[in-house]
Amino acid sequence: MNTSFTLFRLQTQDTLRMKMNARLKEIDRIIAADLEVIQAKAKFSEAQEIHKSRESSLNDLAAQAREKKLKRELTQSNLFSGKVRNPKELQDLQAETHALDRAIAKLEEEQLHAMMEVEEADALEENARKELQAVLDRKATENSRLMSEKNKIEAEIPLVDAQRQVLIDQLDADSFRIYRNLMKSKAGRAVAEIHDDSCGACGVVITPADIQAAKSSSKMIYCKNCGRILYKS
Ligand SMILES: [Zn+2]
Repeated sequence: MNTSFTLFRLQTQDTLRMKMNARLKEIDRIIAADLEVIQAKAKFSEAQEIHKSRESSLNDLAAQAREKKLKRELTQSNLFSGKVRNPKELQDLQAETHALDRAIAKLEEEQLHAMMEVEEADALEENARKELQAVLDRKATENSRLMSEKNKIEAEIPLVDAQRQVLIDQLDADSFRIYRNLMKSKAGRAVAEIHDDSCGACGVVITPADIQAAKSSSKMIYCKNCGRILYKS
């Protein structure tokens, strides 16, 4: 049995397993923190607030106008009741009617303007609502793609782990320990394949004797430059 070959295969499986883990984490992150949805929701709720506040301004103006009209009616009925005869008082009532007429006209103009603002806010809210729905629909499709990818990866994990275990079982404890330490210290690459008589990881030239040993011996041969286990197919 060639230990370096077994370790090389184990490294291939371990690398695959790490990639699967990283992808699972990434999928969870994408689904949890969806900036587009958060932004579309914020925009919609802002539009709702503006709409509500403009509507309440319009209602205020309408209430003020109603009050002034009521006051005008009272003034008018006083004026024509025949009870007030004093010319100064009558003049005051006339003046008050005119003042109320002006106030009512001004309020009605403001109401018209406020109505336009409410209509505009209503349209903006409707747009924001449609945009949010569109984002949510699109995300549902995207997320369902991500979820099925996640399910697929999770289903593959036991198979990869079983294959890893078969390889680990073929190794003696020392070789496995050395491999694991090198995986940690050499950035996830403990075994380097020899390509064109050079170390596939650091590129240093390997002696013919070491190449021969890496190929045939069950003893592990290390790159004299980077310290990785050498494997020759
Ligand atoms: Zn090397």
